[in-house]
Amino acid sequence: MADKWMCDCCHVNEAIGAASSGYIPYSFAWCRTCLQHPVHPEPEWVLSYLYYEVGDHGKGLVPDDQLPGTFKDDRYWTWREWADWAATQPDPPRETEDEVVQAGMDRHG
Ligand SMILES: [Zn+2]
Repeated sequence: MADKWMCDCCHVNEAIGAASSGYIPYSFAWCRTCLQHPVHPEPEWVLSYLYYEVGDHGKGLVPDDQLPGTFKDDRYWTWREWADWAATQPDPPRETEDEVVQAGMDRHG
């Protein structure tokens, strides 16, 4: 019976409720820490989707302060920190929008 309802964002804390993403038409389970965190974290695949699929390597998006942060490697990241890191990474394989969303749901759903 180890099935706690975990936060979809940090995967560390127990979720306190579900709420919509601010960026894509999905709802996630959130813990209190993530909901209250000033970087407005979302699951990392949401950032990846915005960076590669909505923007062109992060270009053409709304200002950084209107974009989500995330939780990765045991800490919170702002959008800018994450985008700077993403710029050093090889491009992911091209996927259709449906595949990107489905892959995210498979990983975390
Ligand atoms: Zn969390």
